[in-house]
Amino acid sequence: MMHRYFKKKLSSYHDNELGANERKRLEEHLQTCGECRRELAFYQKMSTDLKTQEAPHVRPFFAQRVVNRAETKSRPSVWSVFEWLPRPVFSFLLVASIVAFGYLMSPLSQSSVSTKVEPDYSSLFSSTTQTLASRDEVLAFVLFNQESESAGENK
Ligand SMILES: [Zn+2]
Repeated sequence: MMHRYFKKKLSSYHDNELGANERKRLEEHLQTCGECRRELAFYQKMSTDLKTQEAPHVRPFFAQRVVNRAETKSRPSVWSVFEWLPRPVFSFLLVASIVAFGYLMSPLSQSSVSTKVEPDYSSLFSSTTQTLASRDEVLAFVLFNQESESAGENK
């Protein structure tokens, strides 16, 4: 039975590796054998799938562009402005901005607006003491950092 023989030759046929004579015989067999036609169609589908799955054609200098992009990303950003600042100054700015933000969001800043309409002294008092405490902490922090800074300059 020639079917088994041709079936083994199908992939070679698909890869154009058969001699002209054998190729002709296999094509004749294909016309009479549905199973071999399906098998051949399977090979063809596989190869087209592989072609479409191939990575998109890499354009020239693509790798270079990737490197450039990576370098652009590592270029000075907004945050790198803090890199040349001494550590204590940066931490002070950070704490100060957090405290300032907390102050803006605190009930004190809101009640100071609302006191014009309806004073609420109890809440004003409690939030004021809270804010004063944090201000003292900031002040102590600033003084400490100024000391350590000038100590560094004297070296
Ligand atoms: Zn067959």
